[in-house]
Amino acid sequence: MGIPVGISSCVLGEKVRFDGGHKRNRFVAEDLAEYFSFRAVCPEMAIGMSTPRPVIRLQDNGIEVRLVDSKDNTIDHTDKMKAFADEIIPSFEWLRGYVVCAKSPSCGMERVKLYLENGNSVPGGSVGIYTKRLMETMPWLPIEEDGRLCDPVLRENFIFRVYALDDLYRSVDGGITRGKIIKFHSRYKLCLMAHHQASYRSLGRLVSKIHEWDDLSEFFLTYRQQFMDAIKNRASRKNNTNVLMHIQGYFKRDLDKDQKAELRDVIMRYREGNIPLIAPLTLINHHLTVNPDEYLAMQAYLSPYPEKLKLRFSL
Ligand code: SF4
Repeated sequence: MGIPVGISSCVLGEKVRFDGGHKRNRFVAEDLAEYFSFRAVCPEMAIGMSTPRPVIRLQDNGIEVRLVDSKDNTIDHTDKMKAFADEIIPSFEWLRGYVVCAKSPSCGMERVKLYLENGNSVPGGSVGIYTKRLMETMPWLPIEEDGRLCDPVLRENFIFRVYALDDLYRSVDGGITRGKIIKFHSRYKLCLMAHHQASYRSLGRLVSKIHEWDDLSEFFLTYRQQFMDAIKNRASRKNNTNVLMHIQGYFKRDLDKDQKAELRDVIMRYREGNIPLIAPLTLINHHLTVNPDEYLAMQAYLSPYPEKLKLRFSL
């Protein structure tokens, strides 16, 4: 059983689009399907629309954004779509992520074409009605569009967040305890340092005061939101370099002069953009095998998702 992730049905290859076609994404449908168990939803089909069907679009009527027929804006699907979203989203509590179809007035996550009643479009666009509801109801959930997953940095960040959320849920399986949360947080310290230094510090303060919280479920919800917000920030080359140099410090007694110079050189070549992140990490993992260190070995940063996905080859 893979990690449960929601998805727009057409991205998985189902012929549910308005034109009777699909928007199959090969990386998602083949590579990610090996690790994720997809829960496919087509919101337009779910509210009773047929395929093929008339084109619909987002229209700003001056008060709010509505989902209407492109040719006849008196045919309005907004209320039905919102009601469907409100009905199905509570059953997504167990999901670790969601892949939505770009540009769709129902599923798009950003820059979906938004029209005025006079037919002009609004710069910047809007969010699909269904996905907007999803983002508002589950603000901690990693959500990404199919097209953006072609960008190696966005792809890595999304998949990392899915794995991290899955890890968080599995870490508190059987009941939330202070010990389980502290242990999880310790394992993600280097990831937080790489993704967002300020959040690394604020989450550290939050966890250090966990004993002051009577309601651990309440604490968990706060921690989950802040943690997921933090790792939504993409790990910059500069931050990754700082983390690699921090890791280097753990080997100062174990490596000889040449090995230290080699590791420093690989980290610097990564910092200058000449080699990918996988290069210093491979060397570090090798040194860790020869010179085990309990703290480093448990760090999610060194192995956050399956190597086979090759996500760090392009970072
Ligand atoms: S974008 Fe969403 S609503 Fe449109 S066909 Fe795909 S799953 Fe259905």
